[in-house]
Amino acid sequence: MINLGDWQQTLNDEDQLKRFDSAIKFECTPIMFNRDEATATFQGKSHRYLTSLNDCECVDFIRNQKACKHMYRLALEMGLLEGTFESNVLKISNQLSTEDALTFINILSDEAQKIVQDFLYYHLYKKRENYGYIKSTVLNELLNNEIFIVCDDAAALFDPYGRNELNEKIEPYSIPGFKKNLKKEKLVKWVIATAPNIITELTSDAVAITLHPKFTKTKRKVYSHLKQKFPSEDNWL
Ligand SMILES: [Zn+2]
Repeated sequence: MINLGDWQQTLNDEDQLKRFDSAIKFECTPIMFNRDEATATFQGKSHRYLTSLNDCECVDFIRNQKACKHMYRLALEMGLLEGTFESNVLKISNQLSTEDALTFINILSDEAQKIVQDFLYYHLYKKRENYGYIKSTVLNELLNNEIFIVCDDAAALFDPYGRNELNEKIEPYSIPGFKKNLKKEKLVKWVIATAPNIITELTSDAVAITLHPKFTKTKRKVYSHLKQKFPSEDNWL
């Protein structure tokens, strides 16, 4: 376990300095970074690793139990460790050509395509990296076709639920300090801070997803394409 602020002191031997040197390279750009939760996801050659400031799923950390390059990179991104680092998310994930991206989308059911459109609207215009949806066969279609990937984002899991619905679900737990009149955003923050142990049960029908990074370059084109195809969805914009 590494205490915050002690990052500099962990760079005390040659092996750790080597890990730090790898961490600043563009190859170590996280494909997802969540500042609020202090977590990041990295794309390895065949696996994807979820990393926090205390833990990483990679073999290096599991074997050595010392900060790995992913943890150093996360500490750098968080500003807990000083140093300049290179970033290039496009280079680390093979980007689809526009033609291939649209082919990937067009083979999906109309219902699935409308979910992509909905997600891209929140992503492009509301700056949402992750979004939560109720589990469904359509959502599975999107995950199986690797349009979306599942991500670890507690706040996003609450997206599909309305405030009143959440109030009704939370009330039976009788958590001290629970207030029914909070705005949804505040209520979600309160649950995450006060009762993180009930999140999984509260949001058991939901899954948090993000766009597969192979669409990073083409996502705007995909959105324009879908908007033309299904114009009624957001013609009030
Ligand atoms: Zn690691």
